[in-house]
Amino acid sequence: MYERRERPTVKQKKLLYTGKAKSVYHSDEKGTLIVEFRDDITAFDGGKKDTLKNKGSYNAGVSAFFFSYLEKNGVKTHFLEMLDEKTMAVRELSMIPLEVIVRNLAAGSIVRNYPFKEGMPLKPPVIVIDYKDDSRHDPMLNDDLIVALKLATPAELRKIKAISLKINTLLSGLLAKQGITLVDFKMEFGRQGKTICLGDEISMDSMRLWDKKTGESLDKDVYRFNKGDVMATYNRVAARITKTSKGSGQKKKVAPQKKSATRTR
Ligand code: C5P
Repeated sequence: MYERRERPTVKQKKLLYTGKAKSVYHSDEKGTLIVEFRDDITAFDGGKKDTLKNKGSYNAGVSAFFFSYLEKNGVKTHFLEMLDEKTMAVRELSMIPLEVIVRNLAAGSIVRNYPFKEGMPLKPPVIVIDYKDDSRHDPMLNDDLIVALKLATPAELRKIKAISLKINTLLSGLLAKQGITLVDFKMEFGRQGKTICLGDEISMDSMRLWDKKTGESLDKDVYRFNKGDVMATYNRVAARITKTSKGSGQKKKVAPQKKSATRTR
C-alpha cells in the first residue's frame, strides 16, 4: 500500500513528543521527524484507554495510503515514507493547534449538542474547528476567535477550509468506491514556511465511517461504544480501504469477518 525503502536511511533520535496514540521522534535528517503509531487507543478525553495489538500498524497503513493519494491529487501533506509497518518519516511542520472536522452526515458531538438527527445529510458539508487543548477539552472555535487568538490569519483560515473541503471530496469519493460513507473526520494542519500542509493522521481513529449497505460502524465508535471486536473491524476496514488502488494491497493477514455490529445510536 505504500512505497517502502529497502533500507531506511533516516535514523530515529530522541523523543520529541508523546500523544495519546502516537510518539514523535527527532531524526538524523534536518526537517524530518519520525512518527510511531502506537497500539494505544483512547476515547472520551482519555477516560477510556486500552492497548490493542496491531492497532498502530492498521492506522499507520491507512494514513500512509490516504496521504499518498492526497499528494497525488495535489494536497500537500507531511508524509514522506513508511519506515516499517507502524512508523513513518514526515516533514517537520510548525503545527497549528486546530482540530478541523468536516461533517457530511450528522453524528457524534453535533447530534449531542445541537438538534440534528443522526444520519441527517449535511449539504454543503459542515466544517467545525476546535481548539486543540486537552486541558480545556478542545473547545469549539469560530473564525473571529481563531484570528483573535492568532492561531491563524484570515487568509490561512480560508486556505485551511478550502483544503479541508478538497480532502473531503477526494476521500469521500475514494471510500464510496469501497461502499463506505465518510460521515465525518478530523484533520490537523501545520506550516512549512508559508505552505499549509496536512499533518497528524487520517485513520479509523480520526474518521467516522459507515458501511453504505448495513450502516455498520467501521471506526473508533466500535471502541467508544463497545459495538464489537475493534481490531477485527480495523483489520477488515484497512484491507477494504487500501484495496481501492490496484497493487496497493497491504500484505497482512485479514482476519475472518466477524458478525456485524449494528449501530445502536
Ligand atoms: O466527537 P465528534 O463527533 O466531534 O468527532 C467528529 C470526528 O472527529 C470523529 O470522526 C472523531 O473520530 C474525530 N475526532 C478526532 N479527535 C478528536 C475529536 C474528534 O479524531 N479529538
